[in-house]
Order: sequence, then structure tokens, then C-alpha cells
Amino acid sequence: MKILILLLLFIPLVSFGQNPDFSAYNNQINYLKNEIKYFEIEKINNQFYMIVGGGGNVGVFISENDVVLIDNKYEIIEEVLMTSLRKITDKPIKYIINTHFHHDHSDGNRAFGKRGIPIVSHQNAKKRMMEDAELYGGIFSSIKDFVQPKYEKNALPLLTYESKMTISQGNEEIELYNFGKAHTDGDSVVVFKKSNIIHTGDAFVRYGYPYVDLNNGGSIKGLIDLLSALELLCDENTIIMPGHGKLSKKKDVINLKNSLSNLYNKTILGLKNGLSYNEISDSIDETLNDNEAVKLNYIKSIEHELSINN
Ligand SMILES: [Zn+2]
Repeated sequence: MKILILLLLFIPLVSFGQNPDFSAYNNQINYLKNEIKYFEIEKINNQFYMIVGGGGNVGVFISENDVVLIDNKYEIIEEVLMTSLRKITDKPIKYIINTHFHHDHSDGNRAFGKRGIPIVSHQNAKKRMMEDAELYGGIFSSIKDFVQPKYEKNALPLLTYESKMTISQGNEEIELYNFGKAHTDGDSVVVFKKSNIIHTGDAFVRYGYPYVDLNNGGSIKGLIDLLSALELLCDENTIIMPGHGKLSKKKDVINLKNSLSNLYNKTILGLKNGLSYNEISDSIDETLNDNEAVKLNYIKSIEHELSINN
């Protein structure tokens, strides 16, 4: 009997451990492999470019002798990315900064790690890369069972940090900031101080309601706090490369912060007054987009976040 109970306890663990379902992830990879043939290249100045499409925006910084990349899209489109980069410069890649661990920003590690290119990230991003990770819970819960496989050793960051890191590269000071739980629990905001250019990763995006990865340490309140901190790093001339979407300015960060703060505060007020989710949603002026399902999921996620923290 004891043995049977032990077996029953053990079976689900073993079966999950041995057979995680990567089919949703693999389907996406196969789709991208066939679809992505080239990327748009956006020139910011002689030293900075943004490579757009097929995953998160890749930042390119060209210094005297070499190149630094911020994010690297997907493993399977490494050649497409390299073709785009070679249209900009012949210089070698010195290192790659990961803004966070999500597949559409960092899966290129699986390819570039094999080339021996060092990778830098926040310490929690590396931790997430070391395990299979289920994404899209909560806010984008319409996407089911999407499991990102863990990274091989040579695809993992070599250098990590806790709250701030500074790297000198040519005439530039590159500052990496982590502001705590936000899009995930391992986000880096990458600041090129002298050039006044910032790559935000998915902590700031232009597609409407930002996805907050509640399965992997993300926080809606934390994301709003990060946007406040980001605002303080910017002046009117700062150029911002978002995780997804077009080049932005400080005012775009303020707009997103205000929209999310409004949603957050109206949700807290509505919950306090016993309103239904739909009533709370109706009380929020729509400013981001018209995706009602995502808006409702935000409201439910804020309620969930409050219940954990209280
Ligand atoms: Zn992301």
C-alpha cells in the first residue's frame, strides 16, 4: 500500500519532468523559420541601429572596433539577423545583452552562445533560462501551454548583476538597471549614457496593454513603478528603443505610465466598492487599445496581485 501511494505521488512529477509539452513553442519556431526572410533596419545615428521584426527589437551599438547587441531574437533566424547586421557593419560582436529571458528576445543565445559570444543579463533572467518556463499565464491567458525550453550551458549569460551594472565600451558608458519585479523578475533597462539612448526590453512597449509575465515573477504594480523610474532616466531628447514597436520618446513612456496607473487605481477603487469586473472595466477610460479581454485580465490580475501581497 505504501509503495502504491509513493508511486501515485511520484508519477505526475516524473511524467512532467520527462515530457514537458513543447508543441506550442515548436509550432511557433517552425512558423517563424518559414516566414522570416529579412528584417527592417532603422538607423538612429552612425553608431546606433534598431533591427525590427520577427521577435523583439534588437539594438545595435557600433563602437570603434566591435559591436554590442541588445537582444538577439530567435535561434532559428540567426542567419537572417546576421545578414541584417552585415548590412550595417563588418565589425565582430563583442558581447550581447539580454533585456530578459523571453524566447522572442533571447532565444538567439542558443545560436550565438555556440559561437562563443559572451552574454550579459540580470541574474534572475539567467535563473529563468536554466529551467523550462511556462509563459503567457494571466494577462494573455488565451495562449495556452506555451513552454519555453531551458537553455544549454553555452547559451546562458556569462555575466550577471543584481541591481545595477556599468560597462565601459569605447567612448560610451553602458548602464544596466533592474528595478525589481516588472515585465518579469529579471528585466534590464539598458542606458547608453553619452548617446542618450535607452533600450527598455519589454518593460516598455508600443502595442497596447503590455504583457506582464505573472508566471515568472512579473508585477503590474512593479511595471508602473519601473515606468516612473524610466521617466526619470529620460530627458526630452532621449531616444527609446522599446521591446516591440517604433522608436519612442519620454512622453510615450509617460502616456503608458498614466494609462496603467489609471487602470490600476480604478481597479482598486472598484474592488473596494464591490463592483463587478465589467463595471470596473466600464469605469476605465480606454486609452491603450480596445482589447476588452486583455483589459479584464488586467483587472483580475491586479486583484490577484493584491491578494498575494496582503
Ligand atoms: Zn518579454
